[in-house]
Amino acid sequence: MGDSLVSFDPARIAVILLAGGRGTRAGFDAPKQHVMLGGKAVLQWSLDALAAYPGVLVSDDDIALPAGWSRAAPGAERQDSVASGLALLAEWSDDAVVLVHDSARPGVTPDVIDRLVAALESGAAAAIPVLVVADTIVRNADASVVDRAELARVQTPQAFRLGALRRAHAEAAGEAASDDAQLVRRLGEGVALVAGDARLHKLTFAEDLAMLESLLGVEKETMRIATGMGYDVHRLVAGKPLWLGGIRIDHSHGLSGHSDADVALHAITDALLGAAADGDIGCHFPPSDPQWKGAESWRFLDYAVQRVADRGGDIQHLDLIIIGEAPKVGPHREAMRLRISEIARLPLSRISVKATTTEGLGFAGRREGLAAQAVATILWKE
Ligand code: MG
Repeated sequence: MGDSLVSFDPARIAVILLAGGRGTRAGFDAPKQHVMLGGKAVLQWSLDALAAYPGVLVSDDDIALPAGWSRAAPGAERQDSVASGLALLAEWSDDAVVLVHDSARPGVTPDVIDRLVAALESGAAAAIPVLVVADTIVRNADASVVDRAELARVQTPQAFRLGALRRAHAEAAGEAASDDAQLVRRLGEGVALVAGDARLHKLTFAEDLAMLESLLGVEKETMRIATGMGYDVHRLVAGKPLWLGGIRIDHSHGLSGHSDADVALHAITDALLGAAADGDIGCHFPPSDPQWKGAESWRFLDYAVQRVADRGGDIQHLDLIIIGEAPKVGPHREAMRLRISEIARLPLSRISVKATTTEGLGFAGRREGLAAQAVATILWKE
């Protein structure tokens, strides 16, 4: 082995990545290696950062492994999990390097690995990344100050000559240690300290997630609420079937238009297109296009709902008001809500259908036509 970093063959560095935790802490609804950070699981960050080396993932997870990786079952304690990973490196020689890393630290950098490997090349059997302690440290018992110059905060990955780690585990014989470097120390081997990295911050509590997002420069997913409005009017004519709110209603008059003229579904469709800044119903279904003659209006609504979904929108609410003297909407309200919820693939609780008259005023008051207004609320993740 030479003394420059490039002389070390990366194929002689193996990784044991620990992700065996099953517990959940307050603030997380999954084991922390599964918590999402910048669009991928915390565990995936370490897998991606270390994928250039062969490795063993010590985990029950069925997450896809990089090429050259294998999977080992976690043990009861951290030490057992490391031993489980070591067992899969049986073919490796004692002078190879093994990096033992805790997947709760997603911010592995090549610089830290370079420093660790350089320390091993200088003769240490183990090397660990550490950070200085900036805060004053006192004893719980009496608030007396501990000299922080004597202290350092230990991170992972920790690097070992494979032979030293094997012997350390063989001689530990069930005796627990807080980490593998401590086991190697017990052999009388030197443990080199190298500069750690703030990005190796460990995810323990919910507030650590915000800190990691900032340290790792992760764009936080933002939410945007958009509302759209729709308005439509169609003429009432005698003897036509009446389609309103997606249902057929027995009535003396029906609505006239190019399609089935369901004024309510047209208003909702336009509201959705509005909340998507995606034109209006006339742009998507031109009245000049013969294919929409007599069309069932649920198809327009279905189309708008699909366009919203395709663009990543999540429809939060649809509020409809039908304006006219007759027919009375009340008896049909629940049937309309149900039909709209089917077409829009939304729970009933997100669909509101209301009605009003205009006190006999205007075209609606004169029963010449029906109007409808709708407001759609869409949640966009971006
Ligand atoms: Mg219309």
